[in-house]
Amino acid sequence: MNGEGAATPAPRPITSLRGVGEALAHRLSALGIHSTLDLLFLLPVRYEDRTRTVPLGELRPGMRAAVEGEVQLTEVAFRGRRQLLSRLSDGSGSLTLRFFHFSSQQQQGLTRGTRIRCFGEARRGNAGIEMVHPEYRRAGPAGEGNEDRLTPIYPSTEGVTQGRLRMLMKLALAQVNADELRDWLPAELLQRADLPSLHEALLLVHQPPVNCPVDELVNRRHPAQRRLAFEELLAHQLSLRQLRQRIQSEPGWVIGSDGALASRLLASLPFALTGAQRRVLGQIDADLACERPMLRLVQGDVGCGKTLVAAVAAAQVVQAGRQAALMAPTELLADQHAQNFQRWFSPLSVPVALLTGRQTGKARQSLQKGIREGHAPIVIGTHALFQEGVQFASLALAIVDEQHRFGVHQRLALREKGSAEGRQPHQLIMTATPIPRTLAMTAYADLDISVIDELPPGRTPVKTIALPESRRDEVVQRIHGSCLAGRQAYWVCPLIDESGEMPYSAAEETAQTLAAALPELRVGLVHGRMPGAAKERTMQEFKRGAIQLLVATTVIEVGVDVPNASLMVIENAERMGLAQLHQLRGRVGRGEFESTCVLLYHSPLSSLARERLAVMRDTSDGFEVARRDLELRGPGELLGTRQTGLSQMRVADLSRDADLLPSVQRAAQLLLQRWPAHVAPLIARWIGQAEQYGRVG
Ligand code: ADP
Ligand code: MG
Repeated sequence: MNGEGAATPAPRPITSLRGVGEALAHRLSALGIHSTLDLLFLLPVRYEDRTRTVPLGELRPGMRAAVEGEVQLTEVAFRGRRQLLSRLSDGSGSLTLRFFHFSSQQQQGLTRGTRIRCFGEARRGNAGIEMVHPEYRRAGPAGEGNEDRLTPIYPSTEGVTQGRLRMLMKLALAQVNADELRDWLPAELLQRADLPSLHEALLLVHQPPVNCPVDELVNRRHPAQRRLAFEELLAHQLSLRQLRQRIQSEPGWVIGSDGALASRLLASLPFALTGAQRRVLGQIDADLACERPMLRLVQGDVGCGKTLVAAVAAAQVVQAGRQAALMAPTELLADQHAQNFQRWFSPLSVPVALLTGRQTGKARQSLQKGIREGHAPIVIGTHALFQEGVQFASLALAIVDEQHRFGVHQRLALREKGSAEGRQPHQLIMTATPIPRTLAMTAYADLDISVIDELPPGRTPVKTIALPESRRDEVVQRIHGSCLAGRQAYWVCPLIDESGEMPYSAAEETAQTLAAALPELRVGLVHGRMPGAAKERTMQEFKRGAIQLLVATTVIEVGVDVPNASLMVIENAERMGLAQLHQLRGRVGRGEFESTCVLLYHSPLSSLARERLAVMRDTSDGFEVARRDLELRGPGELLGTRQTGLSQMRVADLSRDADLLPSVQRAAQLLLQRWPAHVAPLIARWIGQAEQYGRVG
């Protein structure tokens, strides 16, 4: 099956299966099933052994079993509710079937003397063992009804019964054609990874033989399932690499500079770069000097100094006479970056412009003119930066801060900002969400990855304590003590209150209560709904130290930098995820002062919440937090939903199948080199045409 000229066969719609009409197709589409193969990629969640008929006398409560017996009596009873009761016996014992929903047809089918075969869970009823709503049918001669395969149980969906799904799978397995089942994984590759063919894998997962290891199947560790997961991961990997190729298919700006401006910037700082910052800047310099546009992700824990790395990269570009832009996820962060950049670049006579949704009218027009005509070498902003109407004279470097708020599609959109000369900006993406390396290489297969794995010297780790809400007063006293000693504090309220409503009033109320309890302190409030200007004013006051206690919703989650703040109180910490807690904690411990993070929680704690708080207490290392987070939650949330496209996988699971990732990466390389014609059909099979990143836009 190795093939040149492998065309991408159009997937056959599910309606091409005999017996599938529009109505059923519509219901299946709720499960993401549009083609026969999609259907076959819907894997059972568990299996039942119906290959053996259990004598009624051996049934025990809790057993799920197939049984056969003769109807002794069927009656409609009223025991609180109207119900149908049918009594079976087989000589060894008896069993009651109980139905709360039933038709008269059903009642007639259960007449005395009929032999019934049924499957269900036995439980203790008031008249001996019973099954409630078992699956059943008329039995043939004894023993004939036994299944010869394990019975798959599929994820349920409205309006499609298990029986129907099983029937559909049988049809699909029988009718699926060679084209659809074509194995895009070359035999050589399968052998190397010791995996079965696609057809074998599908047969096994949908119709496993009786002797199949059920534990392995249920945990999705069977080679058949691993084969499918492998193929899916490979398809995602290839799709992201295609995106990369597409972005890099046009040239970028070759930035050759002697680094004079960057050196002057660095010389003006009261500190030296860390080794990690220097190493990463070296990687960026090398990328900038190439004609191929850079696509680089810089990962680094909160506080490791990513902003400065971005500034030095920008300096290189500016010295070469081109433009650099930095996009932040919030206005607050854009403001802060603009201030930092202004502080760094003004002494070097390099103007820094700020463009957010707030600039309107004339001011905006003249700003845009400056950007278009190249008078603004450095532009900082929010999404507004890359909206229509903003044109750059020669954008050579686009920096995206806090990448987890942006997605694959934005990466593509940045491409469109290339200048008239047909050159692409280099892309530098910065994230404080540290994720384990293999996972990063999979989720961000379109990017090169740099890691800043060192914090600036002199930081004392933040001490973290978890306290029940009942000790709130102590916490308030602590704020008092700390602020009177000249430090500052944050109090973070969760965005959503118990009822899921009025989040901002909750923050307002907290601010008022705290202000009343701490009359000597100035208390400020920021939340997401405040007008930008008011937010900015409060943040400025907090930075200046005019406000000692800042009450905030999680808008301060990313990036705010106030080194004098040494106390972080997080309310309802039990409701937040690890990544978020770690980000918030990163707001303190940025200066020379010993800092504390107090996690206030409401009892009782779920076991997951308890685990999370324990992780926070145990470690301050972002990579370790991420690793534990992955264990606790799986990768979907860790990476942020949808951004990577990896969260919507059907078969694979990045944490369960993490051990496959290195061989998936090798396979991707091999396929691209030796079987390039297999790439497109493989992506189409798993990801679909519409979502192929490489084709968007
Ligand atoms: P993050 O990586 O979380 O974005 P920032 O860029 O906000 O971190 O940096 C955190 C703080 O550390 C800032 O005040 C910044 O000026 C400072 N900083 C950055 N690099 C160094 C360094 N090499 N030595 C000391 N302080 C540094
Ligand atoms: Mg930052």
